[in-house]
Amino acid sequence: MIRLYVEALLADGTTIEATEGQAHYLGSVMRRAVGETVHLFNGTDGEWAARIAALSRGKATFAVEALVRPQAADTDLWLMFAVLKRDTTDLVVQKATELGVSTLLPVFTERTNAGRVNLDRLRAIAIEAAEQSERLTVPVFRPARQLHDNLAEWPAERTLFVALERADAQPLTPQPGPAGLLIGPEGGFGPRDHTALDRCRFVRPVSLGPRILRAETAAIVGLALLQAPGWG
Ligand code: SAH
Repeated sequence: MIRLYVEALLADGTTIEATEGQAHYLGSVMRRAVGETVHLFNGTDGEWAARIAALSRGKATFAVEALVRPQAADTDLWLMFAVLKRDTTDLVVQKATELGVSTLLPVFTERTNAGRVNLDRLRAIAIEAAEQSERLTVPVFRPARQLHDNLAEWPAERTLFVALERADAQPLTPQPGPAGLLIGPEGGFGPRDHTALDRCRFVRPVSLGPRILRAETAAIVGLALLQAPGWG
């Protein structure tokens, strides 16, 4: 079943315009035809079966027909991650979406090499991963900022597990209550990052094992460990 994210409200009997990209995907890539069914979700109204009512070059409309899955409470899990090289950042966003992250906070640290972040591009990657992984939501992106700015606005009641290699930290195990994970850049956190983190009471340094993982591996492992006993 093709699942597509839409911005529009979803309700019985509504008609929705596809984006140009969706129309191209349906017609040229997936060779779908008028009358066939797709599933639509928008992050708030659940998942709906919709008929392709019109389909031509670059244009399509959907006739929304029936609710197939009501909106359910989502995982509440934040990921703050040092911006990496472009392809690696893309990978982190895709995997974090598959692993249920609700809020993504790209961050610049002392040793971050990347200069800017294209949030539109990252959001497109997250939408595709949400469609594919049968999520009913797309993670929220915060604009990329300096680490100390993100720490200054971090909600005090949300534990921030900070993945630290080569440290004497406890292994990561889930704890009750709201949580987030912070992963450093390719070169690890710098002394100024450590000073800023040490000042925060919501910070819990954690280890992800005896080997030095690449940042993207650390993100995947950390997100899995944080949720492991609760899923399945
Ligand atoms: N260049 C650094 C390694 C950085 S690894 C060095 O050689 O020391 C990139 C990020 O992944 C780190 O900042 C940390 O957040 C995370 N990470 C990697 N391995 C880890 C481990 N074993 N435990 C906890 N965090 C780890």
